[in-house]
Amino acid sequence: MKKESKKRMLLIGGGVIALLLLIVFLTLEFRPFLSVKDGEEIHLEYGEEFSIRDIKAGYRELFSGKEFSVTPKLKGSVDEKKLGRYELTLRFGFALWGKKADFTVIVEDTTPPEITLTSDPEKYTIPGEAYQEEGYKAYDLCDGDLTVKVIREEKDGKVTYTVTDSSLNKGTAIREIRYYDPIPPEITLTSGNTQVVLGYTFIDPGYKATDNIDGDLTDKVTVEGKVDTSTPGTYELIYKVKDSYDNETSARRTVSVVPATGKVIYLTFDDGPYKYTEELLNILDKYNVKVTFFVTNQYPAYANLIGEEARRGHTVGVHTYSHDYARIYSSTEAYRNDMSQIQSIIKQQTGNATNIMRFPGGSSNEVSKKYSQGIMTALAGQLTSEGYYYFDWNVSSGDAGAEISSEEVAQNVISGCSGKNTCVVLQHDVKLFSVNAVEEIIRWGIANGYEFRPLTPSAPGAHHSIHN
Ligand code: ZN
Repeated sequence: MKKESKKRMLLIGGGVIALLLLIVFLTLEFRPFLSVKDGEEIHLEYGEEFSIRDIKAGYRELFSGKEFSVTPKLKGSVDEKKLGRYELTLRFGFALWGKKADFTVIVEDTTPPEITLTSDPEKYTIPGEAYQEEGYKAYDLCDGDLTVKVIREEKDGKVTYTVTDSSLNKGTAIREIRYYDPIPPEITLTSGNTQVVLGYTFIDPGYKATDNIDGDLTDKVTVEGKVDTSTPGTYELIYKVKDSYDNETSARRTVSVVPATGKVIYLTFDDGPYKYTEELLNILDKYNVKVTFFVTNQYPAYANLIGEEARRGHTVGVHTYSHDYARIYSSTEAYRNDMSQIQSIIKQQTGNATNIMRFPGGSSNEVSKKYSQGIMTALAGQLTSEGYYYFDWNVSSGDAGAEISSEEVAQNVISGCSGKNTCVVLQHDVKLFSVNAVEEIIRWGIANGYEFRPLTPSAPGAHHSIHN
């Protein structure tokens, strides 16, 4: 009996050991696995599907490496259309032959919104002008249409579009602006179609070219054509200029070379000579224009220019020696004495006295009567009967008072002469701003069919009415 119970004990013991060995074997041989770890965070892009099929679970045989998959049980769910954190649990098997993982799925949006630009190949932007929007759209997977949230910035020929979605993802698009300038430059011709008197030098009255982009293009203008002022006829000048976008403009001017028109401008300059007189003489030579100088001895250092004026073909007239109103208009004798002093200088300088004269302040001056009542009537009568020709003016340059611009001086003369056939113009060569206006006056006169002549006894006196 003892022997038998011992044998049974051995059998049971052996069975238990075998069972334990089997358990150990099975535990070692089949290892459970789960691709999701406990506490893991899985990031899922908004709209992407969360699928249990992506998770691997099952047992792996130790020796062969063979896998047996099982579908784990999922607790919890994920809404892929809603951003947020979802807590889930997966499990399968039991004890040593099972696995469990508590994990988190984070549905998030990391995709920036997309901006699409529309463009019209026919459209362009004029340089310097703002870009005219051709269209854009912004779309975000999560937020939908974000077009209204787009911010545009135009800089250095580019438009940058940016938009941010609710997850702060920033989308950007850049448009290169196409620039083109369809507008050609403009040429403006001073004086338009012009006339020039036979034998005078034709000087272009001037032109200006401006462009909306390039600004002043006057220097780039080319002029085709020639004016032969020794042959009467009509000549055409063509002015051309191109802008930087290759737009070309041209303008035409006809220049008629005509025999004398009977239109005459007598330019006269009082109170000199002075330091600007030589420059004036050079300008007049350039255009072969002859004028009249009513001279004084106010600036004796320049007295030699009186001779120079005569030698260059201009008329020298008397204005008075001192130009001192109180002195010259105190009596007719005083005036005559002063006048003979300047006459002797004129004679010394030019070889001859002159019979051309102008009263300081003109014959209509209101000053002389302060010193001697009735003196202007007396002087005009006396001097005329002695063979003097006195000249006033019918166009004033406005240069007698304070300094004005040379453009204003020229404009005063041009508007004063316009519509007149004979102009006797008053200027002063002791004023630089007036001397600087002469070239423009001459150009205008030549372009408008005027001749420039010096005064002679037969020239119109342009007399004012005398106020005593
Ligand atoms: Zn004067």
